[in-house]
This record gives sequence, structure tokens and C-alpha cells, in this order.
Amino acid sequence: MSKYYEKLEPFLEKGMALTTATTLIEWDVETAAPMEAEENTTRVIGILSSEFFSAYNNDEVKKLVYKLQETKEQESLTPKQKGIVRELAKKIEELDKIPPKEYREYNEIKARAFGVWTKAKENNRFEDFAPILEQLISYNKKFAKYRQKRGEHLYDILLEEYEPGFHMEQYDVFFEKLKSELIPFIKKISEKKDTIDKSYNEKSYEIEKQKEFSNYLAAYVGFDFNRGIIAESAHPFTTNLHNRDVRITNHFYKNNLESAIFSIIHETGHALYEMGIDDELTQTLLGEGTSMGVHESQSRFYENIIGRSKEFWIPLYPKLVEQFPEQLKEVSLEQFIKGINKSVPGFIRTEADELTYSIHVLIRYEIEKMIFEEKVSVKELPKIWNQKYKEYLGVEPENDTVGILQDVHWSGGMFGYFPTYALGSAIGAQIYYHMKSIMPFEKYLEEGTLTPIRDYLKDKIHKYGKMKYTNELISDMTGEAFNPDYYIRYLKEKYSKLYELEDVTIEE
Ligand code: ZN
Repeated sequence: MSKYYEKLEPFLEKGMALTTATTLIEWDVETAAPMEAEENTTRVIGILSSEFFSAYNNDEVKKLVYKLQETKEQESLTPKQKGIVRELAKKIEELDKIPPKEYREYNEIKARAFGVWTKAKENNRFEDFAPILEQLISYNKKFAKYRQKRGEHLYDILLEEYEPGFHMEQYDVFFEKLKSELIPFIKKISEKKDTIDKSYNEKSYEIEKQKEFSNYLAAYVGFDFNRGIIAESAHPFTTNLHNRDVRITNHFYKNNLESAIFSIIHETGHALYEMGIDDELTQTLLGEGTSMGVHESQSRFYENIIGRSKEFWIPLYPKLVEQFPEQLKEVSLEQFIKGINKSVPGFIRTEADELTYSIHVLIRYEIEKMIFEEKVSVKELPKIWNQKYKEYLGVEPENDTVGILQDVHWSGGMFGYFPTYALGSAIGAQIYYHMKSIMPFEKYLEEGTLTPIRDYLKDKIHKYGKMKYTNELISDMTGEAFNPDYYIRYLKEKYSKLYELEDVTIEE
């Protein structure tokens, strides 16, 4: 083995241990810690984070990484070691160009921004959030400029962080397609003014019984309780310490049956990805899902393509009715399927149906692009936001709480993240058509046999961790690079059928 790589190993181990410890504390904060713990715990996280920073970003590690990037050294490395060096070099490049003082300042602003945003949202006062949002944007611009290479766009640098290889060049094509194909189609669907009655969803559903069914669903989809646990939190999420300790949460509402059902399927989709990472890679820099988009492709594949299909519910629906006989005895499987897929253009992204969802993302993409590529003042943003909602979805947010203040992302300094949500949905559709062509996909669902589907995804995606990036994964799996046409086709086919549209032509 390369002697330089050998010298690098203790640093990698330390970085891994610090990440694991921080993740565990963060999990505890979200799920179990008492309210007053926050201040002291935040200090501990701060110390661990700066330890992490210096475990990777120090002169010795830098020297080793530069050395290991030389051709001669590269030749002596295994593919796994090469991948680790590549990821480490990326991390160092990110951290190294930012002066530590500014990095600290930025993190302090971020820590404050969440509280400011929460209050502003509560009080419907964008003007209270605007000043700190402006600071967050200017730090992100500044940091991107430090890393900018000649001719590189600032927004591309941010996009690359969440989805390596996907920049405005790719996203522009993708979102233009969504715009031109989906917006007229959504209009057609909403003109149908459907009479789908889903009032059953707001009846009273006992939380304990919901929990039982939620755990049952997780196991049904493939969550391995020997390698993971499920808890509750305000907003459902997934985190992982390694491939044998993957944690997800759910949230229950008494008067919303769907919410917990689709959240648990979604998070289980994320969890299966992390549980499926190869033992060789876990606890290394390659030991997690390759990108936000691919992660979301897995969660949304399970949640929507599988979880909202009729075939999936054929064996399951009787069990749900058994769990809630009073509430559901009058609701047929057909009505339930129409209910869980009902499309209504609305203000809120996280409550959007599958058809209109990506248009919410499109709006955020266009606005972020304006922020980082053009001159637009923060003050103008709510107006632009509302105009776009009106133009694309035909609805105008009645206030900023349900408009521009709805998402937490910007308060956490996350710019360039949103597009991965739509990308993930589209990747999922491409995977779906591919899998349908090589296995009796629908039959498996109808029979309640999800193992072949899960095993295939593990074999083609999960096990690789960060060894492969998005396009390589997709083309190795489907024989074709990312192609948004499948997503358009999927949505049009599905919704034409649900809404009995006759005059829609679907291009093959
Ligand atoms: Zn997700």
C-alpha cells in the first residue's frame, strides 16, 4: 500500500469518528433531548465541528493529499482509495479557500438565522427575515467566489455541492422541459375540476394505531430493524451513522392519515439506500448516498411510484381498513387511490401532489438563479415569488408565510439544494421504466413481494455509495444518461389515467 495513504489513515479515522459523534448528538437533539439542553449542546457540537475541520484541513493532510493526487501515486491506489482521496481533496478545497474567521462568522449567522426565520414566518413578516437572508446570500456569493475558476458561474458552484456534475446547463434543459410540458398539462387537469372525495383523510385516526401501521409499512417496504430505529420528530428525516445504524423519524397528525403513511415510505426509501451501502465503504468518505438527487430518487421512488400505485395497495389496503374500520369501511380501494393522488395546485411545496410538485421546485430554481446570476434585490423576492406561482400554478399565495417564507432551506444557507428534489423525482421515473422492462414490476407489487425490487436497487445503486456519481450510476443501470422525458411520460400517463383524459398523446 502507498505509504502516503497509510499516513493518511489515522486522520480519516478521526474525521469519521467525529462525524459519527456529531451525527449522533444531532439526532438526539431532534428526537429526545429536553428543551433546555440546546445551548450547552450547541457548544459541544461547535467544538466537535472545529475538531472535524482541523482533522481534515491541516498542513499534513494537505501535503499527503497533494502527493496522492500525483499520477504515480494514483497508480498505486485501489479504486476505493482513489475515491477517498478524491472526496477528501474536494472537502479540503471547499474549506481551504475560506478564511477560518469568515467561516466562523457565517456559521454564527446561520445559527441565528433559523430563529429569525421561524419568527418571521410565524408573524408573516418577510422584512424581518430579509436582512439576515441578505447576509446569507452575500456569504454564499463570497465563498463561491473564492472557489470560482475562470468562466465558472457562481450558482454552478453551489449546485455542484449537492449534485456533482449537474449545473445550470443540465438543469436549464430539465426545467424548461417541465415548464413547457407540465404546466399546460396541469392546467388541463385542474380544469377538470375533479370531484374526488378524500374527506376520509381528515377523520380522526388514533395516533397509536397510526404508529403501528407506520412500523408495519416500514418493515413491509424493507426497513431492517436490526440495523435501524424509528423515532418521532417535528419533521420526518433520515440520518445514518453507518450502514448498520440508520435512523429515521416520522410525525403523526390525528386528522391526517396520509401524512404519516407517505412520510414513512419516503424515509424508508432513504434508509434502504444507506443500509445498502457496501460494508467495504461504510464509515469512509465514500460510505453514503452519492448525492441529494440520487437519494431523493430512492425516497420518492418508494413514496410515489411504488407507494401511490394501485398495485402496491392491493395487498395492503385491506390491512389499513382493518386498522381503521370505522373510518375507512365506506372507502373503496379505487377511491383511496384517487384520493392519495388527487392533484390540486397549491401554495405549499411539501403538501404538493406528485404532479404539481416539481413546479414548486422550478420556481425556487428560477429565483435562486436570479439571486446568484443576476441583480435582484432581496426586497423584490416576495413579489417575484408570487408572480411565478400565479403564472405557473394559477394560485397566488395570500401571504409570505405560505409564500416565500415557507421553506427552511435558505435560513440554513442552503442554496442550490432545491433542484435535487425535482431531479430525484425524474431519476426515479427513469429507473421505473427501466425496471419495468426487465422484471414483472407491477406483479411483484400486487403480490407484496418487494424483495426483488429492493435487491436490484441495492445492487445497481445503493452498494456503490459515492464510488459512482449520478450519471454514471444511471447509465450503468439503464444504459442511458439522465433523461427527463421519462418523468414527463410517467406523470402524463399516470394522471391521464387517473383523470380519464382521452386526448393526451404520449410520445414514446
Ligand atoms: Zn427526502
